[in-house]
Amino acid sequence: MESVAKEFDVIVIGAGIMGSCTAYQLAKRGKKVLLLEQFDFLHHRGSSHGESRTIRCTYPEDYYSQMVLESAKLWEEAEAEIGYRVYFKTGHLDMGVPSDKSLQAVIASCESNLIPHRVVNREQVMHEFSGVFDIPENWIGLSTDLGGVLKPTKAVSMFQTLAIKNGAVLRDYMEVTEIKKDYERGGITVGTKNGSKFWGEKCVVTVGAWMSKLVKTVSNRVLPIKPLHTSICYWRIKDGYQDKFSLEDGFPSFSSYGEPYIYGTPSLEFPVISAVKIKCGGFLGHEPVTPCFLACFAITSATEFALLFTYLKLLLSSS
Ligand SMILES: Cc1cc2nc3c(=O)[nH]c(=O)nc-3n(C[C@H](O)[C@H](O)[C@H](O)COP(=O)(O)OP(=O)(O)OC[C@H]3O[C@@H](n4cnc5c(N)ncnc54)[C@H](O)[C@@H]3O)c2cc1C
Repeated sequence: MESVAKEFDVIVIGAGIMGSCTAYQLAKRGKKVLLLEQFDFLHHRGSSHGESRTIRCTYPEDYYSQMVLESAKLWEEAEAEIGYRVYFKTGHLDMGVPSDKSLQAVIASCESNLIPHRVVNREQVMHEFSGVFDIPENWIGLSTDLGGVLKPTKAVSMFQTLAIKNGAVLRDYMEVTEIKKDYERGGITVGTKNGSKFWGEKCVVTVGAWMSKLVKTVSNRVLPIKPLHTSICYWRIKDGYQDKFSLEDGFPSFSSYGEPYIYGTPSLEFPVISAVKIKCGGFLGHEPVTPCFLACFAITSATEFALLFTYLKLLLSSS
């Protein structure tokens, strides 16, 4: 392997989706960039691997919606530059009781951000989604056209390829153990466990669930944050109903603001049997963990997901 330059405009630490995208965007703006990753590139121990992640513009937090709207253009630009797709668009359905504070905030955010949306009742939800969703009588749905599925591993690979194409230097098996201000020269020095040293005008840290560990290592400070283990569950769709759950036929990504909060997408995983599974994540019952060798983090109870069966009209069978 050729020797690596030691001086950069920006050193990015952590090559998940955040770091890889950051390296690409900086390199594209003409910056001399180094991206350092502790494991192999495209490893499965962080958060940014797999085949499906929800992307939607409906959030209770106003600023998220604005960021997602802005990102739509950036995803398109990156896809055009690489020549393949990582973002598959579909509609998005939020649902819950009308008094739910988060759902109210989501509707308010749609209004203030001028996001086209429809607030619909149970019958309208049934009609719009061909009877696939059957929400409780006292719930409402919020339907928007701006949802979809991102393919995370493919997206990380895309950003890393584009970063290299735009001149960035990428190195894996480089665990950063030292980040220090360079008081003589200005800027930052970054050191790795295997003894490499680099200098950067600036440094961007995107180490996801390893943030506490890195901050403790480089500064001996303890951050009040905890990584949570998140599970994804899959359901096989009963024979004859596969089309109803496919992205091509308009099955939306969705979020349920019931107790617990559940979200899901039409899955793009396992191409041989594609569109016969749905990915769901729930945020309750997650256990704090030490990030290390697990693919993604926390087992959520089966009862949380049993709720999904009620909404999806028992068209799904075993997990
Ligand atoms: C199961 C699951 C489902 C999810 N579903 C969704 C969804 O549907 N929609 C959505 O928007 N979001 C979803 N998320 C969240 C989303 O995936 C994450 O927010 C995103 O992937 C975080 O990316 P990241 O780059 O910050 O972290 P990571 O992907 O974890 O990347 C951090 C990188 O830093 C590296 N690193 C750490 N320490 C060092 C060091 N000292 N030196 C060098 N490198 C280091 C790590 O090895 C890793 O590669 C989900 C997450 C999970 C786990």
